[in-house]
Amino acid sequence: MNAPTRRGLMLILSSPSGAGKTTLTRMLLQDRALDLTLSVSVTTRARRSSEVDGIHYRFISRPDFESLRDRGELLEWAEVHGNLYGTPKRPVDDILAQGRDVLFDIDYQGAAQVRAKSPADVVTIFILPPSMSELRARLERRAEDAREVIDRRLDNARNEIRRWTTYDYVIVNDDLDRSYGDVRAILAAERMRRERIAPRIAGLVDDLLAD
Ligand code: 5GP
Repeated sequence: MNAPTRRGLMLILSSPSGAGKTTLTRMLLQDRALDLTLSVSVTTRARRSSEVDGIHYRFISRPDFESLRDRGELLEWAEVHGNLYGTPKRPVDDILAQGRDVLFDIDYQGAAQVRAKSPADVVTIFILPPSMSELRARLERRAEDAREVIDRRLDNARNEIRRWTTYDYVIVNDDLDRSYGDVRAILAAERMRRERIAPRIAGLVDDLLAD
């Protein structure tokens, strides 16, 4: 394999449930030219009818989760809405080693853990809903969760929204296409950061100076 031309980055999108993060994630992954790979989390949450095991999550039992965690095979993990969620470490390391970028849909607890481990390689974006009533409407439209689950998610949303100050970028998702454009712009700029492209540019500069 050729040496990567730059370091891969970890692009973390977080938001309260229903703020549009899942749609943005799908749009990013469908754009093949962006060459983003989604980190598929493991979770002890029950699968929703629209979800496919191994694509949206790997759905596993609590004992299996605990054994992955205790063997150090998770890059980060957290309890969210009463369920355990975690990021398997190996697939992330493999993609980054190729100089390619990994996309994460994880919460603020996970974002903080990944940043603590690899501060230079992490870019975090927080997606805010335009209003709480819009957030509730989106959760109800999804209609996949029971009423008490929706109420719990709204309560948790208030707690999550307070975490916006710990992120690199914040997007208010009042227009999906514009938000998508904003995420792409952030990614494009972050990919060009000097620290990430330094090895390639150093060689070019040597050639320029020798010319
Ligand atoms: P949901 O149950 O709606 O799919 O996800 C609930 C929350 O868990 C979302 O905020 C999502 O970003 C977060 N989440 C999903 N996977 C992970 C993970 O692997 N680690 C952490 N820390 N949070 C996760």
